[in-house]
Amino acid sequence: MRQKLVLLGAVFSCALAALLVSVAPADGQRRPRRAPVPDDAPERPENETACNYQDPQDFMIRENFLANWKQPRDEQQRRRKLQREAVRYRTEQYGYFEGFGNPRWNKHAPTHYAKRVQFMDLPIRVNEKIIPALECVEAQLRAECTEPVYTPRRLSGIRTKNTYHNGQASNHIYGIAVDVDPLLNTCCMCVAQWGDHPLCQNEVESIYERMEMPPCWVHVFERFGFYWLGRDSLQDTMHFEFLGDPNHILKTTGDPPHMAEALAAERAVQEEREAEERAAAEAEAARIAAEREAELEAARQAEERAAAARAEAAAAQQAAAAEEVATTSERPQANRGCSVSAPGL
Ligand SMILES: [Zn+2]
Repeated sequence: MRQKLVLLGAVFSCALAALLVSVAPADGQRRPRRAPVPDDAPERPENETACNYQDPQDFMIRENFLANWKQPRDEQQRRRKLQREAVRYRTEQYGYFEGFGNPRWNKHAPTHYAKRVQFMDLPIRVNEKIIPALECVEAQLRAECTEPVYTPRRLSGIRTKNTYHNGQASNHIYGIAVDVDPLLNTCCMCVAQWGDHPLCQNEVESIYERMEMPPCWVHVFERFGFYWLGRDSLQDTMHFEFLGDPNHILKTTGDPPHMAEALAAERAVQEEREAEERAAAEAEAARIAAEREAELEAARQAEERAAAARAEAAAAQQAAAAEEVATTSERPQANRGCSVSAPGL
């Protein structure tokens, strides 16, 4: 049985064999410990792409519908129901894959919707519905993730075989999952082969140390409805899956309904911030105007004082001149006697 499990787990790229975690690691190797996953997404920048920002839909996230025997019975039932809803939604939106759901929900297989596109200069086949989201991701990666620039070497998209072995449907079969560099970005909790990888054996402070792709890629993908499976118990760092609303990817289609509340709250915060900025700018302008007014008033008063001083000086000068004139005009009278006697000289 164990050998059979090892054989099944021999999928090295994006190995989604979740149950094979129980396979014993090779001699001398420890089973890898789960790495901490930082919750460090930076504030979303203003969205200049053609797509809406959107979050993955909760009912589509694997961890939210995985049931196990440790959970209370009603919780298990709730999760199984959620899983059925997720299968139905994926079938309706992306195609019917044999063994999952009902062909009445969609007469086409996911391959019917598959298109070959270029993503970051590499070819990949994905479901056509998510192509606009991938294009927005690429535009934003090129604009934002420049330090350092990461150039992927290999991508993996749609698959015609399910790579989960525990009865779950991999999102690769619907063409809505993308693996980035499956040999460089680890999946330490997937299969034994990954567990032996040096990056998985190392004790790390963050899961980012177990991949080559920069965290900036994770942040950008996550803004456009993709779920990063690095957050999952598998710690599949290479894997992004589109779990947003495929009918509201482009801005022209309006905000995704599941985001309405969050977006309204985001907008309210943004408006409040803008109002605060406006108020601060107005206060600053008023302060500058008051300062300028005070300067002008001071200049006016100084000018008045100067004018008064000039007037005073002029008056004093005038008075002095008048006095001088008065003194001078008295002098000839005093000398009059001399001038009378002068003609004889
Ligand atoms: Zn994958």
